[in-house]
Amino acid sequence: MRFLFSDSVDTIDPEYDFLGDRHRLGRTVHRDDEYPHEFLEAAPYDGILVSRGIVGDVRHPGKYSEAQLMRFRREGARRFLRYPLDKFPGSMMMGDCGAFSYRNLPEPPYRADDTVEFYGDGGFTHGCSPDHLIFDFDDMGVLRTIADVSDDIRGRYEVTLQNATEFFTAAKRLGREFTPLGVIQGWSDLSMAQAARNLVSMGYDYLAIGGTVPLRIAQIRRVLSALRDAIPREVRLHLLGFGKIEELASLREFNVTSFDTTSPLLRAFKDARKNYWARNASGELSYYTAIRIPQATQNNKLKHKALEGSLNQEHARRLEDAALEGVRSYASGQGKLDPALDAVMDYWAALNWDEEPSQSRRADAVARQRRIYAQTLGDRPWERCDCRVCREGGVEAVIFRTSNRNKRRGIHNLHVFHTHLSEFRQDPP
Ligand SMILES: [Zn+2]
Repeated sequence: MRFLFSDSVDTIDPEYDFLGDRHRLGRTVHRDDEYPHEFLEAAPYDGILVSRGIVGDVRHPGKYSEAQLMRFRREGARRFLRYPLDKFPGSMMMGDCGAFSYRNLPEPPYRADDTVEFYGDGGFTHGCSPDHLIFDFDDMGVLRTIADVSDDIRGRYEVTLQNATEFFTAAKRLGREFTPLGVIQGWSDLSMAQAARNLVSMGYDYLAIGGTVPLRIAQIRRVLSALRDAIPREVRLHLLGFGKIEELASLREFNVTSFDTTSPLLRAFKDARKNYWARNASGELSYYTAIRIPQATQNNKLKHKALEGSLNQEHARRLEDAALEGVRSYASGQGKLDPALDAVMDYWAALNWDEEPSQSRRADAVARQRRIYAQTLGDRPWERCDCRVCREGGVEAVIFRTSNRNKRRGIHNLHVFHTHLSEFRQDPP
């Protein structure tokens, strides 16, 4: 089971200065920053997925700047991402269209021919047919046939299959080095199974399952089970945008060949709790909450409070400094845990105080948050990790503050997840 990291330009400055919270002088983002596979000693994934929607083009801008876009088209994906095959042997370079980015358009902005051209120019090893998202998934007990669904859903289903037909033929010009994937979209397990049958009869032997991001794991399992009943065992399956990465056993049960996700990286700064990943004694993933010490001068909440006069900015900066100093001193062994937590919580309270209406609710909220942070600091998980982020950054890896630090924690999470997955793959079911 192979894990592809879906890139959305997540690079870090390898020489970022944690104490001064500064980038290195004269840094140029694309040239000097590093991707996770460059920063760590070993790539924390088995391949990269690049979406056309993220790269963008003149008509539909993505996340790439115009200069990056031109460079990507000129150099190809591997050179642009500095992910050469000789350095990362056997790695996959997969493309898809990024259907989420054009979900509101009546039709996909991409056709089979220009998508094949995009994959060809980019030097992709694998590429998905241009699909159109279907959101409205049947609940348990509801069974809609194609006659029951709205015109919009039917249109999305049909254009996805029509594009797949054209894409399969057009992809032949990329030769045997390139593997086309037919994308499955549907509103139910049965409609997806039917789409899969159609794709197999077009000639596809590798299918990508789309539209599962909002689905619960029980629904995803129903889909996988229906697909496996509908298609030959040797047809490979890829799960697009699989965020429920604790559910690897389900993927193995239904013989899923590959999946892509950004989840380990994103949860480092988007999840309320599961920011820093670790593994417990029995090898399962476990999680810590990162300690929030935002920059007083940059934080919107604080700026707002300063403007309305409820918090003095100078005072906030002193609390911020004390919190950083407390955590660092504790991590180095000079200070104790309690004073570090006191300082962190003083700053936290100044930031979040007025969101709780009563004095007792406030005290409860502080006590709750303090316990969560005590767990993170008390366990010192950064000392048990051998990845470069933790080796070089130490406790900085668990401090929630500035994008460079937060993305680094995401790269650490990728490392932990990939290690976990590697062991899972060796473990017989
Ligand atoms: Zn680490």
